[in-house]
Amino acid sequence: MNPPLPSSVCHVRGTQPGPRVVVFGGTHGDETMGVRVVQDVLKALGFHTVAPAGEITSPLVLGDLFLGIGNPEAVDRGTRSVSGVRDLNRCFHESFFESPEALLLPDQQRAAELKDLLASADYFFDLHSVSAKETVPFVGLTMFSERHAEVCRSIPVHHILDVQAILGQDVGIAIDELTQTPTTCSWVNRHGGVGLAYEMGYQGDEASVPRATAVLVNLLVSVGAVHPALRENLHIEYARDTAATDQRVYRLVHCERNTLKGFRYADPRYKRNFSPVREGELIGTYQDGEEVRATSDGLLVFPAGEQTLSSNQSLFYLAVPILH
Ligand SMILES: [Zn+2]
Repeated sequence: MNPPLPSSVCHVRGTQPGPRVVVFGGTHGDETMGVRVVQDVLKALGFHTVAPAGEITSPLVLGDLFLGIGNPEAVDRGTRSVSGVRDLNRCFHESFFESPEALLLPDQQRAAELKDLLASADYFFDLHSVSAKETVPFVGLTMFSERHAEVCRSIPVHHILDVQAILGQDVGIAIDELTQTPTTCSWVNRHGGVGLAYEMGYQGDEASVPRATAVLVNLLVSVGAVHPALRENLHIEYARDTAATDQRVYRLVHCERNTLKGFRYADPRYKRNFSPVREGELIGTYQDGEEVRATSDGLLVFPAGEQTLSSNQSLFYLAVPILH
């Protein structure tokens, strides 16, 4: 049985059997490039309204493809979340759905609207962007199973980042090991699907839209959700990227918190996502002279811009490779 179709989601029914796939842009409302990717793919499938909603049938689709906007109200406002308390990607925890207090938050209400659709998905691809101006695209996930590895091989990225260990802590809940990270992707994984986030690049980078559209369509072809002819509608040339043969999985191990004392990076290269660092290396200094050094060898990820920091935000994270 199909769960009811949430608002701002378009169900494209295939004319042949295939997997059940959900794709969202705008799970974070300030990351609008993913919304444009969703709109471009919908247009190429013959769906012409700006905001996706409703049902169409396409011979280019196999199975059931759902393309939508994760958090449309946050997208309208241009903010990460509606409430400012907890964004949509931190709402998918069982305890939140059972809490009348949590369900007062508009973002949590949106999560409640989406949860059955996401739980029914074989595959879920969430399109995100990052605030660091200098970054390469990468994959973020909370579980790296054989099925995840198989999907990742179709995505031209070098870095696969397992965020399981860190995310969730910032919403004040105890994470019970593999089960309860409150992200959209983790929710899908916990219900038997394969969920991952494709981080397209900087959130203001227009060039990330055609690139991510090509990546998404190739990914949809690889899981058997769309016909390869869809590439022609989008003028996508298919060249197998060699990056997938040089992929590494990293795990977040440390979050450095801002202490509101005026932070300066020791070198501009630390503002670049995935800069390699060595244990003890000076990353930056607070105005009062307190030094911030790397706690281990690894990669510096999600560096916050000096001017965008507010209370208790993360300054940066450290990630280390997982050996397989
Ligand atoms: Zn995001």
